[in-house]
Amino acid sequence: MPAARPIQASIPSVDRILRLASVAPLVADHGRDAVVAAVRAEVDGLRAALTRRRGATHSAASAEKIAAQVAVRLQADATGSLQPVINLTGTILHTNLGRAVLPQAAIEAIASAARNAVNLEFDLESGRRGDRDRHLEDLLTQMTGADKATAVNNNAAAVLLALNTLAHRKDVLVSRGELIEIGGEFRMPEIMQRAGCRLVEVGTTNRTHLKDYAEAIGPRTALIMKVHPSNYRIVGYAKAVDEGSLAKLAHARGLPLVSDLGAGALLDLRRWGLPQEPTPAEMIAAGVDLVTFSADKLVGGPQAGIIVGRRELVERINRNALKRALRLDKLRLAALAAVLRLYANPDRLATSLPLLRCLCRSKSDIEAQALRLLPQVARALAGHATVTIESCESQIGSGSLPGDRLPSVALAIRAVLPRHLASARVERLARTFRALPIPLIGRVHGGALFFDLRCLDDEGRLVEQLDRLPQVLKKH
Ligand SMILES: *Cc1c(COP(=O)(O)O)cnc(C)c1O
Repeated sequence: MPAARPIQASIPSVDRILRLASVAPLVADHGRDAVVAAVRAEVDGLRAALTRRRGATHSAASAEKIAAQVAVRLQADATGSLQPVINLTGTILHTNLGRAVLPQAAIEAIASAARNAVNLEFDLESGRRGDRDRHLEDLLTQMTGADKATAVNNNAAAVLLALNTLAHRKDVLVSRGELIEIGGEFRMPEIMQRAGCRLVEVGTTNRTHLKDYAEAIGPRTALIMKVHPSNYRIVGYAKAVDEGSLAKLAHARGLPLVSDLGAGALLDLRRWGLPQEPTPAEMIAAGVDLVTFSADKLVGGPQAGIIVGRRELVERINRNALKRALRLDKLRLAALAAVLRLYANPDRLATSLPLLRCLCRSKSDIEAQALRLLPQVARALAGHATVTIESCESQIGSGSLPGDRLPSVALAIRAVLPRHLASARVERLARTFRALPIPLIGRVHGGALFFDLRCLDDEGRLVEQLDRLPQVLKKH
């Protein structure tokens, strides 16, 4: 260890670092301004660290070492903060991890629309302005039985737009059992307020009857709304009114019935042995006038909100100035149309749609994968942690099928340390896995880090990350 030296003398100057031969290629790649800023940030960081340690004994940072750190910093900046991760959380539609992973057909559609000018709103036959919804409309109406369809930024936008169009300055009836908060600031009462509607609560939290709705209808009532209680379930002494009866009541009183379906599985999921979810087609058949749902929940597509229903209502929505602010761009429109086209062949959907592939994986298939990976993960963690195979339950997430879990298998990672230190150690292990070039995101629970393998499509990519683990473990 070298003897203590004055702080300033031990840190090379910014100019000296910039003159290094190893810095020239960085300037060529990233530009002089970015390199100067990165060198300054690095030098300032070192200076602050030394001051914190009051300039006590330390080894001087060489100019070359600083230049190497600058290269790392510039590379990280160039990569940006949005990056691929491997979802091992056991939540399939993880909102914080971007929900559904898109099928190849959608990825290609996005790339093609990105690379080219497209006939987004251009009619190739007449050479005149066309309609952007045309690219989705037939697909959606055929699948749902609705007269007309459109799509906007997300389902929150679809609900806002529908309410603002049909019930501005008027009353909307909603059951007290359906005044939900979805998370991420989506609360039905607040959306109502933002849409300029007055919420009229009907019934009680656990029981709402048809006569509750009938009695609440007044001269200011614009519509009746049903909301799928997505992320929770009322069990026990509970009653809700089905859409069919509610539609009859609404129509007898000259009102539309609107349903916010949330996850919106387009086909009956029982076909694949999954739990039942109401479909937009069932809603339309039951007499619902307008249905809204997400495109990136059980549809398995890009973020969007889909609106299907009666022609006259969808046309009114399209004339609302807010529609212009909430519409889809060409990339997502291309992706959504590509996903919807996959539904034309439902027999292939369990292979062609990543979401369904993931939902349909059998426990034995996941277990076989766990057995293949166990020795490699254990080897990478040798001396740090033990790895076992354990049964677990995946959840669908994003408020889809809340009570239903899918049996799955996880690698459970536990730190090899005295018990009282183990939990802190597990958090650090989780952090280490998040620091990999492609971060592995698991779930910490009861002193162990769980990697639920249900969504692991590309095993090779995980194995590649394991090769980098020893390096990262040293740093953490
Ligand atoms: C998820 C959900 C929403 C919000 O949909 P986003 O597509 O996330 O905007 C609205 N309503 C219900 C019932 C939902 O489940």
